[in-house]
Amino acid sequence: MLKTFTTKKSLQQYLQQIKALNQTVGFVATLGALHHGHLSLIELAQQQNDVIVCSIFVNPSQFNDPKDLEKYPRTIEADIKLLEQVKCDILFYPEVNEMYDDNEHWHLNIGETEHLLEGEFRPGHYQGVTQIVNKLFNIVTPDTAYFGQKDYQQFLIISKMVTMLNMPVKLVMCPIKRETDGLAMSSRNIHLTPDDRQHALILSKTLNWLKTNFNSHNIPTLKKEAELLINAEPGVELDYFAIADGDTLHPADEATKSIVALVAAQVGKTRLIDNVVLSS
Ligand code: AMP
Repeated sequence: MLKTFTTKKSLQQYLQQIKALNQTVGFVATLGALHHGHLSLIELAQQQNDVIVCSIFVNPSQFNDPKDLEKYPRTIEADIKLLEQVKCDILFYPEVNEMYDDNEHWHLNIGETEHLLEGEFRPGHYQGVTQIVNKLFNIVTPDTAYFGQKDYQQFLIISKMVTMLNMPVKLVMCPIKRETDGLAMSSRNIHLTPDDRQHALILSKTLNWLKTNFNSHNIPTLKKEAELLINAEPGVELDYFAIADGDTLHPADEATKSIVALVAAQVGKTRLIDNVVLSS
């Protein structure tokens, strides 16, 4: 049976009982509008823990654009059904005023990674992400927290925060779940028109092409070809395409060991991100 908590206090009281029984807690933080990508995180967490907490909270502080916050999909009834179907144990579903006091200030010096790629296009986004994930980790105190590779840069930044603040939590990066045609699952896909949905495929197709051709071309050629492919697609406007060091997100060169290609583009009115690990 899914137990839903809307206050920190009630959740913490319940988790104290769980921990007194020496049961391990796995945690999946989400913004809701759940899809199979989210569920795959919960399923992996279930394999490795006794009790799973999923949070659903559309965190205002990580949205730099108020219109984006307003139109972010909210589908709590369907979300609860899905959580029940996968036998998730606990849902934490707080209101904004449960998570934030008025005029709260947060700044964590997480270094330059914050300002690269997504950080450049969504200023302040990662301050908001670290602010809420820090709060959620303090409330849930999970043994292990599961995040998707889909938000690759977010994983790097949360790892950095966990190291900097000596947080006693293990992080696991989970693979990207895709639709059968390759589109990375995302809550934002709801907003794609049928035309957008077709045009959006260029992102995963290009990343696939890169993976196939990674060993036969040099990095500048790969980047140029990938950008040409995406720019040729109608209705798709590239924010960035990067072939980067998987640890620093600086541009990769032939000597870089861990390499990831990351893309963000506006498809119609919807902003999508995707990535692929090319070498690790
Ligand atoms: P969100 O609700 O978009 O904040 O996502 C919550 C968590 O699910 C994050 O750790 C995401 O990286 C992860 N996630 C989102 N989409 C996918 C996907 N297609 N495959 C795997 N994980 C995902």
